[in-house]
Order: sequence, then structure tokens, then C-alpha cells
Amino acid sequence: MTDPAVAVFVLVFAGLFGLVIGSFLNVVVYRMPAGIPLTRESRCPSCDAPVRPWQNVPVISWLALRGRCASCGASISTRYPAVELATAAAFVAVAWWALYAVEEPGFTASVAPVVIAYLYLAAISVALTLIDLDVHRLPNAIVLPAYPVLLGLFTLACVLGADWAALLQAVAGGIVLYAFYLVLRLVRPAGMGGGDVKLAGVLGIALGWLGWGALVVGAFAAFLLGGVFGLALLATKRAGRKTAIPFGPWMIAGAWIGIFAGDAVARWYTGLIFAG
Ligand SMILES: [Zn+2]
Repeated sequence: MTDPAVAVFVLVFAGLFGLVIGSFLNVVVYRMPAGIPLTRESRCPSCDAPVRPWQNVPVISWLALRGRCASCGASISTRYPAVELATAAAFVAVAWWALYAVEEPGFTASVAPVVIAYLYLAAISVALTLIDLDVHRLPNAIVLPAYPVLLGLFTLACVLGADWAALLQAVAGGIVLYAFYLVLRLVRPAGMGGGDVKLAGVLGIALGWLGWGALVVGAFAAFLLGGVFGLALLATKRAGRKTAIPFGPWMIAGAWIGIFAGDAVARWYTGLIFAG
């Protein structure tokens, strides 16, 4: 059981760290699809005035500026503070999950790389969701490095004492989910993008590390969410049968359901079958 004072400190730190990362993700989401280098200094898109350091504080600056550029008064989208807050919420959720949901014999050294792996996954989840919604793409520059980053951190966790079987499961999970999406893409090329297949491998690794329950629930939840949303759009005539709805955000949302609740759902479901 974690000391409550330590838990509060960890959760607050995770939230503040999430705000900073969210601020960086705003830059990634805006610049990467447009091909603007990430290192260039930030400027107002309307008047080209450089953004001063004090105007770069997550959420606070937006509130202090009342959502307007200090130079020309052009409005700054509420999306910026919203992304910062969403990333902070995601980081707090991962920290909470690590503190209370992951069954570990005490807080061992091997937990640290695992938590970093899921924080990293949370960060790229936010970026990929927004970019896929904006331009219907899942950039290789974000998806492909996730393979070595996740596998590297999980390997480090094993070196520090985590079960090597979990690493094997992570690799197997990545292969299984990648192959599953590859088959879907070959069967119906219009339904899946190549980016979805590559993302599936990443999510499979993250889910596989936690077990087969997480993998199955995470994969199934994506289709359930995507299907329900698609039917709702059709029913309300907001979309025709041919409207391209990006699937990446549903894969990501489903994966997080698998990560946070996969084991519980799998236990409940098998209990349902074997009790009845
Ligand atoms: Zn301006």
C-alpha cells in the first residue's frame, strides 16, 4: 500500500509533467503534418510575433492572455489549453493506475521503466489521435520509434527484475495485433490504412506486456467503439456509407480500455461463461 502523502505527490507531479508534455504535443500536432521543423521558435500565425517564454506556460498563459495574441489580439484556439489539460489527465490516470491497479510486490525498481513506457504511450496517443482526426494520417515519425522505445523500456524492466515472460508476451502481442490488422487491410484495403497496421503493432506490444486479457479486450473495444460511433453517425445522417472516418483514435481508445480494465473485464467475462 502506497503512503497517501507519496501518492498525492506522485499524482500532482504527473499532472504538472503532463501539462508540459501537452504543451509540446500542441507544437508536434500543429507542425508535423505541415512539415515545419519542431525546433523553430513559436510565432503567432496571424502577426508572426514571437511567443515569449512567459506566454508559453501551459494553460496559465492562455488564461492570462484571455485566449488572444498579446501583439495582434488574434484569438488562440481553446484546443491548446484543452490538449494540455487532456495530457495532464492522461498522465494522472497512468500514475494512478501504476499506484493502485498494478499488482506488484511493493514499489520495485522495475516499475519505473514500465510507468515511463505507458506515459510515453499516453503522449503519442494524444498526438496521433489529433493528427489522425486533422489529416487522416498516423505519421511514421511518431509510430515507428514507439517500437524500440517500448521494447527497450520493457527489456530494462526485465533486467531490473520484472518477469521475462511479460516481455515475450509483449513481443507476441505486437506480432498478433500487427498480423490481425494486416489481414484486415488485405481483405478490405479501403477500411484500414497502412498507418493503422503499424500502430496496431505498437498497441499490441503495450497490451501484450499486461497479458492476453488486456490484448483481447483492447483489440475488441476498438471495433466496438468504432462500430457504435459509425452506426450513430449513419443513424443521425451525419455521414454516408462512404465517409472516411479515421480508425486510429478508436484503436487508441480501445487500447487504453484494455490497459486500464482489460484484466478485470476478461475475468468478469470468463466468470460469466463458466458460472452460467
Ligand atoms: Zn498575433
